[in-house]
Amino acid sequence: MSSIYQPVERYHHSTVQVGDCLYMWGGVQPGLPRVHNNEKKKLMCSVVEVCHVSTGEWVQKPTTGDPPLGVSFYAAAVIRNEIFFFGGYCGHDKCYHNSLYSFNVDTFNWKELSPTTSYCGPWMKDGSGMIAIKVNGEDYLAVIGGCGLSFNNTPPQPGAQYSQDVNYQRCNEVHMYRLKSGQFIFSNSIGVFRLLLMADSRPTPEAKVKGLVSAINSLYNIR
Ligand SMILES: [Zn+2]
Repeated sequence: MSSIYQPVERYHHSTVQVGDCLYMWGGVQPGLPRVHNNEKKKLMCSVVEVCHVSTGEWVQKPTTGDPPLGVSFYAAAVIRNEIFFFGGYCGHDKCYHNSLYSFNVDTFNWKELSPTTSYCGPWMKDGSGMIAIKVNGEDYLAVIGGCGLSFNNTPPQPGAQYSQDVNYQRCNEVHMYRLKSGQFIFSNSIGVFRLLLMADSRPTPEAKVKGLVSAINSLYNIR
């Protein structure tokens, strides 16, 4: 009897489609070390599960480069042959990330585009949404909402709202990452950004991320 490969059980991960395949990475898995980083965590996070949609068969593939440390509650979006991963929960203590990584589905290589930092950019947070958009023919990633710590985090985004919960706060930040320049930008000079950054256009911090994403999508549809 031939054995059929099945990925290990997990939760708080994402599975995204690129072409005819589904790509599943990370999540909370049995035996995943609850540490910032060590060899075992890196080993467990250096594989991607691939499902061919036409056959329903899963295969596990090794990857090269360093995978993100935000292994659960991260946000993921696809542009062409690359999957982008933003932020997430590290899996120990109160450690959240605002790093952005790309994963190339042709080379299976990870690339850190923007490191985790408490100095600038989106909050270090989990539970964000992320969508890929084109503005004036250029690729952008919009990172929307999420939850993070109110202390030791990046400065609040002007115009964004933050819930009043103690320590772990929800927010309705909207950040744009411009692929061409490799930077999170803050600009209200482009119409669609102006729309997003207007306080009364934003979803409330209390809105669920799915609601945030659909609200943002509807903004794009009316531009
Ligand atoms: Zn950590």
